[in-house]
Amino acid sequence: MTIGIKAPGYYIQGAGELDRLGNYIKKIGTSFLVIGSANNKKRIGDRIAVSLKSADKTMFYWEFGGQCSKQAIADAVTAAQKQGCDAIIGVGGGKALDTAKAVATNMGGLPAIIIPTIASNDAPCSSVAVIYNDDDVVVKALMMHRNPDIVLVDTNLIVQAPKQYLIAGMGDALATYFEARACRRSGAKTMSRGQCSMTALALAELCYKTLLRNSVNALTAVEHHVVTPALEVVVEACVYLSGVGFESGGLAAAHAVNDGLAHVPQASKASHGEKVAFGLLVQLQLEHAPQEEWDTVLAYIRTVDLPSCLADLGITEVKEAEIRKAAEAAAAPAQFTKNIRPDITAEEVYNAIMAADAAGGHT
Ligand SMILES: [Zn+2]
Repeated sequence: MTIGIKAPGYYIQGAGELDRLGNYIKKIGTSFLVIGSANNKKRIGDRIAVSLKSADKTMFYWEFGGQCSKQAIADAVTAAQKQGCDAIIGVGGGKALDTAKAVATNMGGLPAIIIPTIASNDAPCSSVAVIYNDDDVVVKALMMHRNPDIVLVDTNLIVQAPKQYLIAGMGDALATYFEARACRRSGAKTMSRGQCSMTALALAELCYKTLLRNSVNALTAVEHHVVTPALEVVVEACVYLSGVGFESGGLAAAHAVNDGLAHVPQASKASHGEKVAFGLLVQLQLEHAPQEEWDTVLAYIRTVDLPSCLADLGITEVKEAEIRKAAEAAAAPAQFTKNIRPDITAEEVYNAIMAADAAGGHT
């Protein structure tokens, strides 16, 4: 059995850590291209500049336009070359961070520092960057030379963001254990080019248990914009445990259903984490999970206000053809559903979606 474990070089999480960025990059680079939105430039650009200056580093802020496209990546590479940058910092949500990862990779593997300002998904720690076209359709998943050198999470920033972001992060993280477990059982290969290790499975299980115990209190903390111990462990679960858990533990039907739901226009406003949470209910149906497990996951989903049925995802008018298309996409040979069992059919996935919708629906 071959296992592979991928993780960021250095993970830092704490209140006010953004202002200590300079301490962490002392031995990394001299000139930094900072990739982030105009809004984040206004909000934290000066703090980043001051911290880098304290370490005798220079920086150039490149304003991210909102899409992680080939053109945006090429433009940022040009800016980095023009400024003579030898390290890349990404600041913000998923797409700005992915752009930074892609720029670092396309420049031959420059050091990458990732600073998420929201905890809405588990991508920051991973070596994957998802590239889109201008119609917001995924064109490529780019693999970095190595995972980000530094992932720095300032919990003071995370608690300032609307709570919907953390709820989405909880949805993404909720599925991690079940997807890793499916890969462990089937022996499927993960994105770390090995089978799910006991390390990844343990991290994924800790992620799940941490969410069950602390999510309600963490959401209260976000509502009041305060950093509490519950908030801190939930952020660690959503960003680190789930990040290392999915990349080294593997994905399964929960994420495949998320991808499949791209074929249902009514679900277009649902976030990645929301679709993954419902996708997990579909996966539990496919796995014939014990009733107790189903009940625990469903209760959690309802407690934190994640979607438990198609209507919650915005699909108020269920059209069989659309759902079948989603099921077909989720059961395609290259999809993660096959990590449960290689011979799963689109018909089985369709039936599982409808069963999850019925059992998770509100009466
Ligand atoms: Zn995900």
